[in-house]
Amino acid sequence: MSEHILITGGAGFIGSHLAEALLATGQQVTVLDDLSTGRFENIAHLVEHPRFRFAIDTITNPIVLDRLASESQIIVHLAAAVGVQLVVEHPVRTIETNISGTEAVLRTAARYRAKVFIASTSEVYGKGNHLPFREDDDVVLGPTSRSRWSYAASKMVDEFLGLAYHHEYGQPVVIARFFNTVGPRQSGRYGMVIPRLVHQAMRGQPLTVYGDGQQSRCFCDVSDTVRAVVGLIQHPDAIGRVFNVGSTEEVTIMELAQRVKAITGSDSPIELIPYRQAYAPGFEDMRRRVPDTARIQQLLDWRPQLTLADTLQRLHTSLA
Ligand code: UDP
Repeated sequence: MSEHILITGGAGFIGSHLAEALLATGQQVTVLDDLSTGRFENIAHLVEHPRFRFAIDTITNPIVLDRLASESQIIVHLAAAVGVQLVVEHPVRTIETNISGTEAVLRTAARYRAKVFIASTSEVYGKGNHLPFREDDDVVLGPTSRSRWSYAASKMVDEFLGLAYHHEYGQPVVIARFFNTVGPRQSGRYGMVIPRLVHQAMRGQPLTVYGDGQQSRCFCDVSDTVRAVVGLIQHPDAIGRVFNVGSTEEVTIMELAQRVKAITGSDSPIELIPYRQAYAPGFEDMRRRVPDTARIQQLLDWRPQLTLADTLQRLHTSLA
């Protein structure tokens, strides 16, 4: 049977891909987005679809949120302040959007017993150096004087709140911690490294690698991320639990820049930029970040299908 699914932040990078995937499986999809970092162009191709609706508004407008929640069986809550650059430059907006937005979504969903999927982040593992990161690991954050950690702390509050709604009120809540995700429509405006490097390479500009470039990340293709979300929102045993969603293929940022150069055929130089020049004060980077994905693998038999090479190729083709 087709369900009504509300996607907050559905005009964003991950949300718009999720909307497409859910429509393809026969669901009714409504997107709520204030276009603060999302873009209408990301969903413009969906507006004529008979099972698609959208509302341009903030999740903190209680009248709109109440009406849309009352018509939905599932709310996928993706609306949040994202991107390290945005987070360090606008910490007030980050903390307020993340905490009050999630609070509003949970409170409203509880009124109608709608299931809530909360998008959390690998940022909550902070500087933990016990790799790979497992869902129940301890969390090590930097001091409050470093604003980067406000993002992790705000997302931790979201997770606590979601789990509390589940335990105290029996509200169906599922939480996923997205690790670095990449794919078409991701904007480099908020700091994300791959769209920035690809953009620079295709324009013959220097590729900006921050620090010594030996920090590493694992990049998951958005199509794999979306498949994980679709599985998690439908599986009854996902309720009340937290899941890592990410790739385990690790790459240093220097190697990434070299691969972007190779795939785009660019002869741009690679430029090392000290962190203090790259980010506003209050920034602190993390060296490595790798998920343990055993939990979601066990539940859904999920694992990424695309490698980083596939993803870079896909990106290059979509932009060429
Ligand atoms: N980074 C970089 N050059 C850029 C943008 C980012 O070297 O133009 C680095 C950044 O410092 C971090 C990594 O790439 O070490 C991933 O950054 P991103 O903002 O994409 O995600 P994060 O893992 O920090 O959330």
